Amino acid sequence: MASSPCAPHIVLFPFMSKGHTIPILHLARLLLHRNATVTIFTTPANHPFISASLANTNASIIDLPFPENIDELPTGVESTDKLPSMSLFVPFANATKHIQPDLEKALEALSNVTCLISDGFLSWTLESATKFGIPRLASYGWSYYSMCVCREVGVNRLLSGPESDDEILTVPSFPWIKLRRNDFDEPFNVREPKGPHIDFVMEQSIATAKSYGIIMNSFEELESKFIDYWNNKCEPKAWTVGPLCLAEQPSNKLQPYQNPKWMHWLDKKLAQGSPVLYVAFGSQAEISPKQLREIAIGLEESKVSFLWVVRKSGSELADGFEERVKERGIVVREWVDQRAILGHECVKGFLSHCGWNSVMESICAKVPILAWPMMAEQHLNARMVVEEIKVGLRVETSNGSVRGFVKWQGLKKMVRELMEGEMGKGVRKKVGEFGEAARKAMEEGGSSWHTLNQLIDELQALR
Ligand code: UDP
Ligand code: UDP
Repeated sequence: MASSPCAPHIVLFPFMSKGHTIPILHLARLLLHRNATVTIFTTPANHPFISASLANTNASIIDLPFPENIDELPTGVESTDKLPSMSLFVPFANATKHIQPDLEKALEALSNVTCLISDGFLSWTLESATKFGIPRLASYGWSYYSMCVCREVGVNRLLSGPESDDEILTVPSFPWIKLRRNDFDEPFNVREPKGPHIDFVMEQSIATAKSYGIIMNSFEELESKFIDYWNNKCEPKAWTVGPLCLAEQPSNKLQPYQNPKWMHWLDKKLAQGSPVLYVAFGSQAEISPKQLREIAIGLEESKVSFLWVVRKSGSELADGFEERVKERGIVVREWVDQRAILGHECVKGFLSHCGWNSVMESICAKVPILAWPMMAEQHLNARMVVEEIKVGLRVETSNGSVRGFVKWQGLKKMVRELMEGEMGKGVRKKVGEFGEAARKAMEEGGSSWHTLNQLIDELQALR
């Protein structure tokens, strides 16, 4: 489809990880549906995933080489999913700054760019966009809840107060929210945070504040209080355009990595009338072998049917486990189409690390969550899921601390509660309501549909 000369031309630059790239590819589809011209910047190793996801569309993909010979980084790694450890995250994110000259060459060669939407992590792209007079929007893959809570925590220096990591902290603007210092990862959870990670976050928030706007993968009906807080108190304006995962139906036919084995297994479970718990902890989580063994026992003892995606290589399960549970449980080790699994009629619960995409996808599929946050802002997402929007329950740790070890008994108890208990019923009802609201938000005439149109109109008027 040839675009008219005045069609908006939107350039997208996702950060190099699955969780940051997938929602941007959904956004690309939404923009294409509105007859925009879409160009996506990527690095060569991430190109195949992007082109497979956007097969049969008119999106253009432009490769920008990833810097080589960065001391701390293994060569050839162009995605945080492939880093041997997340301790290399900051060197990786800082290495992306070397892409700047190539980004600028590419921007120079493109004509009539309406705006650049780049990941919040790619703060250096603001300078390049500004050089060419292009408005930059920063995309963020988290909730307003987490964004606003983090702002409150920073402004009020809440983490410097408590004596212990589990002391209750009240958030001034949202006094019903009770946090713990333990809800924050290193290096944020100390009295005087400093170091390269803090510098990276500071650079990011300064660049975001100077950008044209923020793109948020959420919807108004889910967290309007927090959206209002942001847009009344903070800069720049945030545009709420999600859930982006509803931009397209999960379609197994289009996914080259689709594996029919588990789809058939889910069909069989549906025919048997056995509700299935989907178990997955995202693309980044690092789980100790001891904790992994405990998960296996908890799932086995819960007696519920489960589909468990074990992503990290080296995550060995005890001998005989898979054989013993095979009538009831299946372990999958490859990349799956998570939305297709969540959308399968027999899937009635999601044991999740609460990555924001997973939370959105679960809500859209009307599947309640059993929250087990691991890292990054997942602890805040888990609080939101369980305490604020009440679409999930939380696993029990053995010492009651949010970062405690989860013993099989605590897991089994909460799995059964989610799948069969009264509390499970409550959160199932709530997630159904939000799932419905999510669908309406994205439909023609819905809140997110309007917001995206307004954004495009406003950007077009600037040209
Ligand atoms: N995902 C998937 N298949 C997999 C693992 C992950 O489709 O085998 C997708 C999942 O649907 C989600 C994204 O990858 O869209 C993971 O993002 P999330 O924010 O949930 O977690 P992260 O991986 O960033 O921790
Ligand atoms: N809430 C609010 N202002 C307050 C306290 C609560 O807007 O000062 C909202 C909050 O968003 C929460 C909801 O009310 O989602 C319910 O709060 P809470 O969990 O304290 O009450 P409960 O669910 O036990 O009735």
